[in-house]
Amino acid sequence: MSKVEHLETIIEEFGPHLHDAPFEGWLSDRVIDKVVPTHCPYCGVQCGINLLVEKDHVVGFEPRYDFPVNEGRLCPKGVTAYLQVHHPDRLLHPLIKRNGAFQRASWDEALDLIVSKFKELQNQHGKDSIGVYSGSSLTTEKTYLMGKFARAGLGTRYVDYNGRLCMVSAAAGNNKAFGIDRSANPWTDIPLAEVLLIAGANCAETFPVLNKFLWDQRDNGGRWIVVDPRETATARQGDLHLQLRPGTDVAVANGMLHVLIEEDLIDQPFIDARTNDWETTRALAARYTPDVASQISGVPAEKIVQAARLYGRARTGMIMHARGIEHHTNGVNNVLSYINLVLATGKIGAPGRGYGTITGQGNGQGGREHGQKADQLPGQRSINNPEHRRHVCQVWDLPEEELPQAGVSVVEMFQKMREREIRGLISICNNVMVSLPDTNMVRQSLEGLDFYVCIDFFMSEGARYADIVLPGSTWSEDEGVTCSSEGRVVKINKANNSPGEARADWWIVQEIARRMGREKYFTFNSAREIFDELRVASRGGNADYYGITWEKIEANNGIFWPCPTEDHPGTPRLFEERFYHPDGKAKFHAIEYNPPNEVPDGEFPLILTSGRVVYQYLSGNQTRRIGFLVQQCPEPYVEIHPETAMKLKINDGERVRVMTRRGEGVFPALVVRTIRPDTIFIPYHWGEELAANQLTNPALDPTSKIPEFKACAARIEKIHSRRLPIMGQQRKGASLSEVQRG
Ligand code: SF4
Repeated sequence: MSKVEHLETIIEEFGPHLHDAPFEGWLSDRVIDKVVPTHCPYCGVQCGINLLVEKDHVVGFEPRYDFPVNEGRLCPKGVTAYLQVHHPDRLLHPLIKRNGAFQRASWDEALDLIVSKFKELQNQHGKDSIGVYSGSSLTTEKTYLMGKFARAGLGTRYVDYNGRLCMVSAAAGNNKAFGIDRSANPWTDIPLAEVLLIAGANCAETFPVLNKFLWDQRDNGGRWIVVDPRETATARQGDLHLQLRPGTDVAVANGMLHVLIEEDLIDQPFIDARTNDWETTRALAARYTPDVASQISGVPAEKIVQAARLYGRARTGMIMHARGIEHHTNGVNNVLSYINLVLATGKIGAPGRGYGTITGQGNGQGGREHGQKADQLPGQRSINNPEHRRHVCQVWDLPEEELPQAGVSVVEMFQKMREREIRGLISICNNVMVSLPDTNMVRQSLEGLDFYVCIDFFMSEGARYADIVLPGSTWSEDEGVTCSSEGRVVKINKANNSPGEARADWWIVQEIARRMGREKYFTFNSAREIFDELRVASRGGNADYYGITWEKIEANNGIFWPCPTEDHPGTPRLFEERFYHPDGKAKFHAIEYNPPNEVPDGEFPLILTSGRVVYQYLSGNQTRRIGFLVQQCPEPYVEIHPETAMKLKINDGERVRVMTRRGEGVFPALVVRTIRPDTIFIPYHWGEELAANQLTNPALDPTSKIPEFKACAARIEKIHSRRLPIMGQQRKGASLSEVQRG
């Protein structure tokens, strides 16, 4: 029997429904009694936003002109974010599933049931039979709490977070090369760079307000090199577009390094003074001539030469990348091969000379700093390091032998669910049925669980499989900090109380731990108390927050970590004098090209890549309920090059079947010249039969354990039947306006 027996009823009750209006509608006589300065809940740019509050309801917004990152700018998601706060789909009461239907329950009833089930499972199958899956759109206080909840509250080793699907290849690459995981430069360095190399990052759609800095750089006479399999809105604005075959970044970067060496565009004094392992990297690059790199990547050799000269001859320059190079089984190697270019030219540690990864989630950076990763403790400490374990146990007053060892990544956790090693799951702030790869296998994992608890403020596609759903808080209902993509810690402020019986996430998690008998370790009365403990726990670690206070953040529009003492101003630019390896030097890595886990063949002749659109945020659990955003992009599509479409006799707009070794889905064809003929693209923000992740490959990078979302073998078939599939919110034959509630 499926855990989701009454799907139509669940959708009817909990959505997603479209909603376009603030609380009580569009009124002209509102009396705003509070203006709360905070930040956008969505991407890692963390734009400043004022929430307008009337009688404890968020009824409007203003962009913040005083926040130096966005200076009054917001993107389509930012301007509609406030509409989620009082959305009719908000979860208002704890829900317990009985006979396949969610029924309202009291907090005591729900929490007591959770505790009795968790205790029963742990008594029968051991502490590790419960898994914890967290998120990176939470405040940093909550992410810290989730790591502590798993280790000190439940005593399980199995905890991980959804940044595993996002930034971990960049994190691992940064740690290997620089000894620390953070973007090297503040964004104010971008306009100072003569050349930007943007790899696998469609900033124009996925980090829209970051473009302000890119355009300032262009206004200063700067040039852009864009490396991307698609001619994205960002690539179209660049000076040089290297339209590589997905998954071949190492070949392109090694080819560029070859040219830099051949044409003496490297910075030998910098290499000698500040790096290690150059000679092996130099020897490897000798084999990657532009012709060799071209054969692998499909980028014309002369473009690789042009790119190397443009970057190498510039006095200043920055390399920035995002998921396009990171979502691969070679994700860490892709990152390291671009870092080799940075180190070889000495373009780091100075104004306009730098490197950065662009985080997708609002707190993608902060969420990977304080211990909710499978192998991490607060302050970017390692759970495998005895000294690090001792420090954190002292802060928590936890006997060292009670601190579990490292767990595994989330995709591996879902495998362990299928193997019945993990039998219970508690998740917060994620939507596994949209965002994990190979959703058919994910469904099997959820169906096989003995007990699943989900904390969220909307009923996601993943939450439908839960036995208990607890109504959590949205970003305007709690306070805390996040860390933006540039390493700036900013303050999220509370604007309103949660509606109905929804509660602050940290209260819910702490209450479960307390009822599990672990109240000694969970005595927080506020998010501020959690932050103060986090500061102490992070002290002396790489991500040292000890010197950061909420007041200091507010007074300075953010503080860049590391910030070890209260009189320390923070560290906007890293590596000016030393890197974070013990000898103070950075490391080159000689990276050989390896193909993706799956390459095209006779049966599946195309490469499927996936990504995002400007109107949706990640799994879409928030943005697919906002009518304005859905109307701009109501459903996913498959981009196909005209040559490929012609061969398959596919017309623009026609629905086609896309198949991989994991599954199949039906999508309208978008025939565009902006994609390579050997590649197709589907945005991934939707669930059920519209999920791009029905198709993607769960193969993992061996170091970062990120799945290969960006390249798998696929084929397209023309559908000869005239019958159209039932789609998303039009599932019951209603038009968009008919299902609109507000
Ligand atoms: Fe929000 Fe990012 Fe858009 Fe800024 S750019 S408004 S942070 S989604």
